Amino acid sequence: MILFDYIINLSIFSLLVSTPLVIRSLIIPKPLKQFRFWVGLYAGIVATFLIALPYHLQDYTYDIRYSAIILSFAYLGPVAGIITGSFALISRLFASGQWYPAIIGWIIIAVIFSILHKFISRYTPVKRCFVLFGAYIFIYIILVPIIFNVFGDRPLFHFQYLVFVMLGVIIGGLQIESYEKLYRIITEKNSMKKILQASEAKYRLITENTSDLIVVMGKKGLISYFSPSHELVLGYKESELKNIGPDVMVHPDDIDLYKNTIKMLFENKESQTMEFRLRHQQGHWIEFESSCKPVMGENSKVEHTVIVSRDISERKKAEEYLLQSEKLSIVGELAAGVAHEIRNPLTTIKGFVQLYKSDHAIAFTDLLLSELERIETITSELLSLGKPQAHLMSRANLRDMIENTLNLLLPQANMNNIQFKWSYDHTAFFITCEQNQIKQVFINILKNAIEAMNEGGDIEINLRKGAEGECIISFQDYGNGIPEELLPRLGEPFYTLKEKGTGLGLMICHKIIKQHHGVITYKSKESEGTLVEIMFPLTS
Ligand code: ADP
Ligand code: MG
Repeated sequence: MILFDYIINLSIFSLLVSTPLVIRSLIIPKPLKQFRFWVGLYAGIVATFLIALPYHLQDYTYDIRYSAIILSFAYLGPVAGIITGSFALISRLFASGQWYPAIIGWIIIAVIFSILHKFISRYTPVKRCFVLFGAYIFIYIILVPIIFNVFGDRPLFHFQYLVFVMLGVIIGGLQIESYEKLYRIITEKNSMKKILQASEAKYRLITENTSDLIVVMGKKGLISYFSPSHELVLGYKESELKNIGPDVMVHPDDIDLYKNTIKMLFENKESQTMEFRLRHQQGHWIEFESSCKPVMGENSKVEHTVIVSRDISERKKAEEYLLQSEKLSIVGELAAGVAHEIRNPLTTIKGFVQLYKSDHAIAFTDLLLSELERIETITSELLSLGKPQAHLMSRANLRDMIENTLNLLLPQANMNNIQFKWSYDHTAFFITCEQNQIKQVFINILKNAIEAMNEGGDIEINLRKGAEGECIISFQDYGNGIPEELLPRLGEPFYTLKEKGTGLGLMICHKIIKQHHGVITYKSKESEGTLVEIMFPLTS
């Protein structure tokens, strides 16, 4: 019979605990703590039901209201616990006699549980259940013999009662725990969803409002994502882009560079940058600078590539303009020297022509011709430098370019009492370049060297092969040199120490050298001189 009463009591208790939890979890689960008062009261009502379903044993009437009270204290704190307990006490008083033991017992438990709560408030609710139930057993064992003057007589009965309360605490505790766990899972899921939505919205905001072109490329070079900016910048809709291959989009002269860069990226797994032209829907070409980043998947293999491209047409135009104006200023500066230089051969020629006129002195024609050729070289170099030119990369002989430049600068050097000492390895030095730009680099560097040597002297120019098959052109002057701390600033725009300097010369040199995949280095000692070395990859 006891077992039967046990089962009925526990089943009803379990039903009463689980029903509101299930209902709540179907609406919007919230932690029980948010309705401490109401849950405490509800637990009191549950206790009333438990009181109404007591089990009788050996002249005693017992119920498991203390399961509800312990759970209430453990999960909701002393306020809710006292509400539950007081509600249960009132029901108990209505239900049967023996008021004093019930009142005294409850007061002692309420006080001890409340004090205990202060020490265990940081424990998890499950641990608190253990501690409170332990305390309950302890109080029960001490109080019951005093108040009821029983215990020693029927230990088995009291043991059964305590087991019964414990089962109630376990069943109720498990149900509350599973509800709270569900709550935590749902809130975690919701907050993850919110974070995900927020970050997705952020990325959408960026990709939809940037004027940069963003594409995601898969392993086989197929593009899986085009940012909406493509329509704005290139005029194609996303659906159209999916059907156009790079052979149509990328400029024929740049397609090899494009394919090689992508290939290298997948092979070397390193970020790459490239400049290339893409076709606008209306047919014209736009210049882009792209940064390509590999995205590693499992097995550290490149799974995707993210390519961000920026329209650099405006920047290119500005650079072009700067280059052109710097070039013209150099031409202007050189013109004075050239004019001076041309005057000397002209005087000679004039003299000989006068002689020629009088006695047909054939012997002087060779000299005459060579002077004329000299004027021709200087003027044509000057003209070709000043002329804006289409950008044409071609295979060119470095030695010729250096010699032409030295010829052009000879007048300037002569005026400053400077001699060029030109030496080179006797092998072929071919590079792929825009000849005029490379000459401009040499002119800028030689001009700096001339300007650094106020008292004249030698400037040594040497062309040789480097250790890795590249070529090295070095310019050694013995001028005033550059303080060591200023070396890193060379090449910054408008950085000049000269009264009439522009500070653009070296900046343009750096730019051109970089475009030609070269490297420039400086070694300098103050008042001793400067060594400038330029390396270029050779073309076979
Ligand atoms: P600018 O010649 O118009 O001043 P550059 O960019 O050509 O501009 O050079 C920047 C600065 O670098 C110069 O002002 C000068 O101080 C220093 N510099 C460059 N080359 C040399 C050199 N060979 N010897 C000493 N100083 C140099
Ligand atoms: Mg300069």
